[in-house]
Amino acid sequence: MGSSVETLEFQAETRQLLQLVIHSIYSNKDIFLRELISNASDALDKLRLESLIDSDLEVDTSDLHIALAVDQDARTLTVRDNGIGMSRDDIVELIGTIAKSGTAALLEKMKQTKDAGAAQSLIGQFGVGFYSAFMVADKVTLRTRRAGTDSGTLWESDGEGTYDIRSVDGLDVGTSVTLHLKTVDGEDGAADYLAEWQIRRIVKQYSDFIRWPIRMATVRSDADGVTTHGVDTLNSMKALWARPRSEVTEAEYHEFYKQISHDRLELAETIHMRAEGNFEYEALLFIPSQAPFDLFSRDTKRGVQLYVKRVFIMDDCDALMPNYLRFVKGVVDAHDLSLNISREILQQDRQIRGVRRRLIKKVLGAVKDMQANDAERYAKFWAQFGRALKEGLLEDTDNTEALLELVSAASTHDPDQTTTLREYVERMKDGQDTIYYLTGETRAMVENSPHMEAFIAKGYEVLILTDPVDEVWVDQVPAFDGRRLQSIAKGQVDLDAPADEDGEGAGGSAKAEHEQDFATLLPWLSTILSEQVKQVRLSSRLTTSAACIVGDAHDMTPTLEKMYRAMGEQMPPVKRILELNPTHPLITALRSAHERNPDDPASAEIVELVYGGALLAEGGDLPDPARFTRLLTDHLARGL
Ligand code: ADP
Ligand code: MG
Repeated sequence: MGSSVETLEFQAETRQLLQLVIHSIYSNKDIFLRELISNASDALDKLRLESLIDSDLEVDTSDLHIALAVDQDARTLTVRDNGIGMSRDDIVELIGTIAKSGTAALLEKMKQTKDAGAAQSLIGQFGVGFYSAFMVADKVTLRTRRAGTDSGTLWESDGEGTYDIRSVDGLDVGTSVTLHLKTVDGEDGAADYLAEWQIRRIVKQYSDFIRWPIRMATVRSDADGVTTHGVDTLNSMKALWARPRSEVTEAEYHEFYKQISHDRLELAETIHMRAEGNFEYEALLFIPSQAPFDLFSRDTKRGVQLYVKRVFIMDDCDALMPNYLRFVKGVVDAHDLSLNISREILQQDRQIRGVRRRLIKKVLGAVKDMQANDAERYAKFWAQFGRALKEGLLEDTDNTEALLELVSAASTHDPDQTTTLREYVERMKDGQDTIYYLTGETRAMVENSPHMEAFIAKGYEVLILTDPVDEVWVDQVPAFDGRRLQSIAKGQVDLDAPADEDGEGAGGSAKAEHEQDFATLLPWLSTILSEQVKQVRLSSRLTTSAACIVGDAHDMTPTLEKMYRAMGEQMPPVKRILELNPTHPLITALRSAHERNPDDPASAEIVELVYGGALLAEGGDLPDPARFTRLLTDHLARGL
């Protein structure tokens, strides 16, 4: 076996992360042991699973365990497992680079964050895993041999930018991580991680539920000075989810959550259930109180792990939790599945689909309870996860009603408070049978949109929807509690006349009064603007603005159009409708001017300005801003 040492550099991001870890981002250094034990436990799970699936794999799984060993003279602490081990390539890939999706993004975000507290809370969401060893060690030596291979590898680093790697013979299958502990100079209050009591305390606190024995060699001296050597198992090994709820403390739940989620967020809800009958399973689910930083990045995984009779099968089990509930973390332990089960088969499995339906109901039920019992906590929850839940309105039509009950939205009713659809319905005016909303990019843009004018003047409440996902779900959900949802920027609106069957206003009396007066102006405008709009008509939704642009009931909103274009979608321009305020002085003056001299180019320019102004008012982009500005300045100058 070649024993030549190769020195490699850590990937740039890894180096940055290491620097952060070493320079103490965690005030609590104890967690290094939890991280190493959790890695060891994962490695044992993997070996057990692999040996069950691959009967040719020659490994001894009769005594899978984790062993902790202390060498007082050398000042080392070693965490050893007889699990799956790593090949040389595994080490370079898993330890030398950051494979975790989102890590680079996280580091980027941290660099941009000037505020130290915010940076701390960002990194706090993120388990740094193996690297946490460098919080307490100035050198780490890892020896490992992958199950099914002959040769082992030794990896060593001081965490400063490079690591050494070489082949070694004579290793057992599994991994040992030896920490050369930093010297404690008493001053900095660092804990003594060579002390047995200290190690016992940390294991009990963080790793008690690990299903594999965590053993440590002990030395005892009795009163007569007789020393005995023994081996103690430090953890109770009971899977938390298998214990009755009444016997589990909140602190234990939280520790378990940290272990499976690799983050350190507080918990908002814990769901612990056991299903009996022909398909038995236990489920322990957690809703964190804060969204992870990568909740909306494309490759965010689902957070539920699948076990079969205490054997770990897979992470992020998408068959058990829909994408929109990806923030739910936890464990499902099913008793009657094959260990060999694949993701594809799971998706098809009738029993698993039943479990999934039940889990969704449980989660939505827990959220509903939170909404009913604690408005403040619910508001916080919604601010973190509302956007994800609204995706459910697109994905999960079985639960549309339940999800709509949970929706919270800003509204013209109260500038400081959100409202539920239920509360909106309770406040509806006599005879109102429609839930009005307006989508847009920001609250200010929506509130100040000309479309709002008549609704505000007449006292109708309008929901203000500014999440990108709002653009989509409102089109998919026909009604809430029998009340249609309608955009105030779409279709005809007449707040004086009762709406007819398909909700289009019957044509307002106020508007009808003016139709006659505008009989020549409207067709003329339609010709001038034929490239831009499909129709020009009089409006009953404006009180102070001269004009606004509206869509037909099924037209795409401008925000949605923008979103599609931003995603690179090729789309023909969407032509909408220009509505004019028949009582606005600019519009009446335009009418008179056109009647006096139908060929005056100045009138045509005013038309362009009216259209451009309406586009700007709804947050749209002008096709030719320079021309618009020139026309505007010309006309202003002429007016002075
Ligand atoms: P995480 O555990 O969140 O994946 P870590 O930094 O703790 O991140 O570990 C990185 C990877 O290194 C693990 O996913 C695993 O593949 C590998 N690894 C770490 N420790 C061990 C071990 N004791 N045995 C086998 N593989 C390990
Ligand atoms: Mg880990």
